[in-house]
Amino acid sequence: MKTDKETKKEFKIEASRNPDKYYATAVLKREGFMRKQCACGTFFWTVNKDQDHCGDPACSGGFRFIGKTPAKKEMDYITVWKEFSALFKRLGYTPIARYPVVARWRDDTDFVQASIYDFQPFVVSGEVKPPANPLVVPQFCLRFNDIDNVGITGAHYTGFVMIGQHMFVPPEEWDQNRVFSDIHTWLKEGLGLPNSEITFHEDAWAGGGNFGPCMEYFSRGLELGNQVYMLFEQTPQGPKSLKLKVLDMGMGHERNAWFTKGTSTSYESTFPTVMEKLRKITGVKVDNLLMQKFLPVSSFLNIDEVESIEAAWKRVADTVGVDVEELKSKIIPLSALYSVAEHSRSLLFALSDGALPSNVGGGYNLRIILRRALSFIDQYGWDIRLPEVCRWHAEYLEPLFPELMTNLDQVEKILDVEKEKYLATKEKSKAIVARIVQGEVTTEKLISLYDSHGIDPETIRREAGLLGTTVKVPEDFYTQVAALHEKRSQVHATEREEKLDIPSSLPGTEIRYYDDYLKLTDTSEVIWMQGKKVILDSSIIYPTSGGQIHDTGSVGGIAFTDAYKQGAHIIIELEREPGFKTGFKTGETVKVMVDEERRRQLAQHHTATHIVNACAREILGNHINQAGAKKTLEKAHLDVTHYQNISDEELREIEERANAIVSSGIKVESEVLARGDAEGRYGMSIYQGGAVPGKNIRVVSVKGLDVEACGGTHLHNTREVGQIKILKAKKIQDGIVRITFTAGNATLHETGEEEGALRDVADILDCEPSQVPGRVKELFSKWKEAKKAQKKGKEAEESIFSLSSEEEFEGEALSEAARILQTQPEHVAKTVKRFLSELEGMKRKTDG
Ligand SMILES: [Zn+2]
Ligand SMILES: [Zn+2]
Repeated sequence: MKTDKETKKEFKIEASRNPDKYYATAVLKREGFMRKQCACGTFFWTVNKDQDHCGDPACSGGFRFIGKTPAKKEMDYITVWKEFSALFKRLGYTPIARYPVVARWRDDTDFVQASIYDFQPFVVSGEVKPPANPLVVPQFCLRFNDIDNVGITGAHYTGFVMIGQHMFVPPEEWDQNRVFSDIHTWLKEGLGLPNSEITFHEDAWAGGGNFGPCMEYFSRGLELGNQVYMLFEQTPQGPKSLKLKVLDMGMGHERNAWFTKGTSTSYESTFPTVMEKLRKITGVKVDNLLMQKFLPVSSFLNIDEVESIEAAWKRVADTVGVDVEELKSKIIPLSALYSVAEHSRSLLFALSDGALPSNVGGGYNLRIILRRALSFIDQYGWDIRLPEVCRWHAEYLEPLFPELMTNLDQVEKILDVEKEKYLATKEKSKAIVARIVQGEVTTEKLISLYDSHGIDPETIRREAGLLGTTVKVPEDFYTQVAALHEKRSQVHATEREEKLDIPSSLPGTEIRYYDDYLKLTDTSEVIWMQGKKVILDSSIIYPTSGGQIHDTGSVGGIAFTDAYKQGAHIIIELEREPGFKTGFKTGETVKVMVDEERRRQLAQHHTATHIVNACAREILGNHINQAGAKKTLEKAHLDVTHYQNISDEELREIEERANAIVSSGIKVESEVLARGDAEGRYGMSIYQGGAVPGKNIRVVSVKGLDVEACGGTHLHNTREVGQIKILKAKKIQDGIVRITFTAGNATLHETGEEEGALRDVADILDCEPSQVPGRVKELFSKWKEAKKAQKKGKEAEESIFSLSSEEEFEGEALSEAARILQTQPEHVAKTVKRFLSELEGMKRKTDG
């Protein structure tokens, strides 16, 4: 089969051979546009008889709207969406709210990178209805492939709003003339552009096996947007028409505002109030005259496209007519200030939508831009606080995105913690830099230092400079680093690697374990068998999935030891092969039984997991999301996204709140909803367990507390959870903390075991259980003293060898003792014994 790239190349030729078939040429002709071909090969449409280039900046000599915008209406950033959505509402579209930039509903990406991401994969595939049709959306997106261009070219962003115009219809309702005419109306009426200022490009698009024609539109060298028509799919037999035709128009919100102003950089028009404040604080000035000359050619500094950045600066300086060093001295500090503003805005959206900076996955890119901003602030000695910059952004954006105001405290906390980490790294880095500058500092070395120690290259360059060494930092440094971390890390492993050869005609297993966790007997038909493995037509048996382990019980009188999913089937592994006399055959109806105690315990742990997750969010903040979970018989753990360790105090609070939820007896309800309805009603945060497949999804809710898409077995009422006991919390990777806890009988076991263990330690120390922490403290300090005496060869005092503390401790004595000894509670007895016997040994030596 052809790759997307090959398909695109081929289809572009095909489409341009038959423009009337693939483009809205009727509308273009009616409007007086003529079809021409540029020297670069592209076919384009213009009303201007004498226009012979396609309008691409490369063909037309950069941006030509600075200081002379042809737009009749000047719009600020906020107004662009207001006007756009009002116009499209008139044209029959429904404006919808943006989706979170953290793409929790997808497992192939961390962040939304284009407006169409909102509707992939299920709306685009036709399985799920769109929230409205047709629709427009102001979608905030994050992309980290141009980090080093931000601030320099005047137009690059890590975070931007893509205005999406989307329609999802069967072929008979597809009307390309209409959707094209609608976007043309925006250009004419919205921006007030005469046709003579608009150029359309014929192009093709291909992605994910789908493809179609597209039309880009330019004005004065600036690409304003691109309207893509997803019409076909590539199959091994060749192209096929899609059953659902999709309109995917994406337009840069920032570009529209910039274009209608036509002055200075895009950053000045995107966050004017923020830039004003930043300039006031830093005293950095904009040389407007210089900018007017610089901006049209600033795109030549795009590091993705230049061979040598030094040569590019020289070329730009020559065009502008100033000395290259003078140009750099004026542009570079200003671009650093733009970067600080731009990166803060991306962080504001990402953090308030629930992402966290970290050293893995998408969080890594957030840390890159955060540290890039901090190092600019450092480098220039600016008095700028990032949380404050975020607040200014939120205030400016409030008319468009009021939700940004609600999480500011949380964003501030996260940024503060990150800044501390950054400062700690910087402190550490001095020594490391001093060492490494002894040898050659290559780009690989710089990247590895950033990667493993978080030391930014600017710091290395500066420190090395102080030591008299010159270090060259590549201009695309951060882009290179980000590329290393693009791949998404999370994988859901519920299916087994070994695949059984099941006939594709075999109907899927009907799921019956959803209905009622106490439904423990049923009859089902055996529809497939192979050795010890059996598939039933329906199953009350829960297979290992969503972090919950499988049930045990029996099928047709034979115990089963495992149950798991393969596609639409649940495979049950029996203890032994059904024999000739004792057993059953395919086609027979059998009795299925599930062990109650195990089922109840797993349900308790699962419902408790939802409760603990919600309580952690209440207490620690909105950034708390599930990153993983596991429920076994003995205990459960929940991995949550958090930027630092969870303190004992916070853990106690979470436990208290969770148990309050348990005892208030809230109903636990589940329902199967159409995906679109579930998302519309409860939002994208329902995907706590990661993306889930299917047209319909099961939603489990603890009323007023928590709603999640979840396939687990759950209790009927929170009261059935019993007691939740949080055992510990531990950072398992940067940005993720694991909370381990028990519920139901497992808690009774745990508490019983702990009490037993505490009594054992009390016996060893010859004291009351409540005096154990006091004695342990005493033991530890006397052991140290004896050790010291022994080292100096001195005789220790006699009192050192007996314990006498009667200090009482209130609270969990065993945990406290474990804390003092820096060990786990279950190891306290062993550790105490070891100290006692060592102390005893030293006593003998002294005596001898
Ligand atoms: Zn061209
Ligand atoms: Zn769940």
